[in-house]
Amino acid sequence: MRKISKVGFIGLGMMGAPMATCLVRAGYEMLLQDADKARTRDLCARLGSRALTKETLDDCDVLITMLPNSDIVEEVLLHNGWASALPRDAVVVDMSSSVPMRSRQLAGEVAAMGLHWLDAPVSGGVNRAAEGQLAIMVGGEPQVLAHCSALLNGMGRSVLHIGGAGAGHAAKALNNFVSAAGLAATVEALHVAQRFGIEPTVMTDVLNASTGRSNTSENKVKQFMLNGRFDSGFALKLMDKDLHIAQALAEDVGYAMTLGRSCTALWHDAAAKATAATDHTEMYRLLADE
Ligand code: NAD
Repeated sequence: MRKISKVGFIGLGMMGAPMATCLVRAGYEMLLQDADKARTRDLCARLGSRALTKETLDDCDVLITMLPNSDIVEEVLLHNGWASALPRDAVVVDMSSSVPMRSRQLAGEVAAMGLHWLDAPVSGGVNRAAEGQLAIMVGGEPQVLAHCSALLNGMGRSVLHIGGAGAGHAAKALNNFVSAAGLAATVEALHVAQRFGIEPTVMTDVLNASTGRSNTSENKVKQFMLNGRFDSGFALKLMDKDLHIAQALAEDVGYAMTLGRSCTALWHDAAAKATAATDHTEMYRLLADE
């Protein structure tokens, strides 16, 4: 495989921008691209990087995508021709939260072009992305992961190999199901507590000192919900997408996932009231009147 020094990165949003920044800091030559031209221009200027084009892609060793969903990943890699512009033996790494079955298929299409594949979605949110401290769950061949491990370690503190192509995306969707269910349970408990006369801050302290403690109670309730900021950087509609991926995965493997179904419906109803900019922590406000 090609020694990794030159890396193309497509998708410079809430997560992609800080992840690409970490890779510049780690010493990689980064070539950047986003559908939002101003975003590409501003980040290139800030990092002293060049914009990615089909011409500059032809000697890239790795192409990373950090895009909203599988439709857009496939559009970018296949229909817009970014994958076929890569040199043979380069690696495509999809770090978006994508659909596992579609990633399996995409891995095969990429292999037919003489390229290697990893799905390497992340967990940890914008703050951990900025610190290069993400959890990264990887699907693909172990030797491709070994080849890319220094690159992934530039963005994450824990890089776990889950299995073959698509396994990283499956693990990510299931993680977000657990996270979404925990958030909804925490928010419902806070609203019941408040109606009973227990302050939400007090109830949060109770959870954090007790067995109901979770990432939501520790890192989201006071930081983004009770203070009305609702700006964690993870869109509610992206969580809704992740829950549908987890639900479809359960159906694919023939598991009912009863709690998953009601959790997905709860978030889907909330997403119907949300805009693209609504943060997922706004579930606190959206579930207030249930
Ligand atoms: P985002 O909406 O902030 O960023 C997506 C970027 O992709 C935008 O800059 C957009 O302009 C760009 N884009 C869209 N279509 C494009 C195209 N055709 N070509 C090039 N660029 C295009 O989203 P995000 O929060 O950065 O999330 C990215 C992915 O990471 C999603 O799959 C999400 O589910 C996942 N994720 C997000 C978080 C988080 O906390 N925000 C955490 C873990 C995983």
